[in-house]
Amino acid sequence: MPRNSCSYELRVTSYEAREHCGLFGIWGHKQASYLTYLGLYALQHRGEESCGIVSSNGRGMLQHKGMGLVGDVFNEEVIKKLPGDRAIGHTRYSTTGSSLIKNAQPLLVDYSKGAIAIAHNGNLVNAAMLHAELEAHGSIFQTTLDSEIVIHLMSSPVYRNHNDALVGSLKVIKGAYCFCILTNDALYGVRDPYGFRPLWLGKIDGAYVLASETCALDLIEAKSVREVEPGEIVIIDKKGLRSIHPFKKHRIKPAHCIFEHIYFSRPDSKVFGETVHLVRKRLGAELAREHPVEADMVIPVPDSGSSCALGFSQKSGIPLEYGIIRNHYIGRTFIQPTQIIRDFNVKIKFNLLWEVLKGKRVVVIDDSIVRGTTSRTRVRTLRQAGVQEIHMRISCPPHRFPCFYGIDFATRGELIGSRHSVKQIQKFLGVDSLGYLSLDGMLKCVTANPKEHYCVACFNGKYPIEFGGEGDKYALERKCCGQ
Ligand code: AMP
Repeated sequence: MPRNSCSYELRVTSYEAREHCGLFGIWGHKQASYLTYLGLYALQHRGEESCGIVSSNGRGMLQHKGMGLVGDVFNEEVIKKLPGDRAIGHTRYSTTGSSLIKNAQPLLVDYSKGAIAIAHNGNLVNAAMLHAELEAHGSIFQTTLDSEIVIHLMSSPVYRNHNDALVGSLKVIKGAYCFCILTNDALYGVRDPYGFRPLWLGKIDGAYVLASETCALDLIEAKSVREVEPGEIVIIDKKGLRSIHPFKKHRIKPAHCIFEHIYFSRPDSKVFGETVHLVRKRLGAELAREHPVEADMVIPVPDSGSSCALGFSQKSGIPLEYGIIRNHYIGRTFIQPTQIIRDFNVKIKFNLLWEVLKGKRVVVIDDSIVRGTTSRTRVRTLRQAGVQEIHMRISCPPHRFPCFYGIDFATRGELIGSRHSVKQIQKFLGVDSLGYLSLDGMLKCVTANPKEHYCVACFNGKYPIEFGGEGDKYALERKCCGQ
C-alpha cells in the first residue's frame, strides 16, 4: 500500500472511535466554572476517560483538562483559576486509539475570528472525508476530534463572523452532534437535525444553562426550560437568548437514540421528553408480558437493569430482590478503553449475595448484551453461588448492527447478536432461558414521540444517515479491520 494511503487509513481508524459524552455550558453566572464542575459531576456516567472546562470573562479564555474522573481532575484550587461568568465543560468517553490527553475536550483555539472553545457529543459520519479534504487544502490538525474539523471549516475566510461560520459549517458536516460552543461574545447550543443525542436548556439565577441531561440541571438547582430542538442553534449572549433554525424543514428528521433510554442516560434524567426511569419500568413490564417465566425472584444487573427489573417484578408479581451488588467506585465496565481492563473490571465490579441466591430460580434483568462476554462471566459466577435456574431477560432486541452516531457498539463481527440466534446466545451464556424484548414492544414503551422518531439502527440496520462520500455504512468498519 502506498505510504500516503497508509497514513490516511490510520486517521480513518481514529475517526472510527465513537464518542458518547456529556456536555455542559453556562452564561452569565458569577460561579460559572464551579457550576460547570458540578454539572460535569452529574454527567460523569456519559464519559469517564477525560474531562475539561473552559471559562471566559468576555475578554479571554482559560482552560483545565485532564484524564480521568471529574472529581480527580478538578478541585477548589483549579476552579479558582477558571474565573469568568461563562463556561463550557465536557466529559468524554471514547474507544481504543484515541485515549489521549490531546483529545480531551473542550477544544480551545484561537482562529481568524477570535478565541473559540467547542465541546462535542456524538459522531460525524463524514469526518474522515472532511479531514482528508481539509488536509489536502493545507489544514494542520492537532487532534483526532470531530470538533476540530468544525473549527477548520469555520475558519474559512468566506464567513464574516462566528454565527455565519457556524451555520455554514453545519451545512457541511453530517452525523450526530450536540455542541456547546463558547466565544468571548456568546454561548451556543447546537443539536443536529436528527436530534440523535439529548441537549437541554435550563435557567438558574437568570443565567442560561445547557446540559446533556436534566440530572445536571437538578444538581445545581437550575430549572429545566426545554430541550434544544433537532436542527436548532440557541445563541445566548448579553442580549439574552435567541434561536435560529438554519436547516430547511424537510431536513429535520427526528431520530432520537433509543439507547439513551435503554442504557446510557441516568434514570433520574429526562431525555427526549420523558423520564428515563419510567421508560425503563415500562420496558420491564413489556418484557414480563412478552417473556413470562416461573421463578422465585427478579434480580437486576445493577444499575442499568434496576428500573426495568422493578417493572418486570410489578407486572409479573415475582418479588424483586438484590442478588448482585455493584462496587460503585470503579465506573462502568465499558468505559475502560481496552479489552484487558474490561475483563479485569468484570471480575471486580460485582459481588453476589450468596445466601439470597442459593437454590433459587432467578430472572436476571439486564439492559443489553453486546459482545456477550460480560454476561457470560456473570452467569458463571451466579452458578457458582448455587443459583438453580437462570432466566435472562433483556430490555431491548439483539444488537445486530454497529452504531455510527455516538454509542460504542463493537464492529458488526463482535456483536454476538449479529452472528448468532437467540438459542445459540442462550447456550453461549449458559442460561436456562433467554428473552429479548421485541422491537415493537420496545417502541411501545417510549411515549413522548411517535415511534418513527427514534433511531433503532443498531437493531434493524436502518440508518437514518448513510455515510456521505465514504462508501456504504460498513466502509469505515472494513477499513479499520483491514478487510
Ligand atoms: P456483554 O455481555 O459483554 O455484552 O456486556 C453486557 C453489559 O454491558 C450489559 O450489562 C450492559 O449494561 C453493558 N453495555 C451495554 N452496552 C454498552 C455500551 N455501549 N457501552 C457500555 N456498556 C454497555
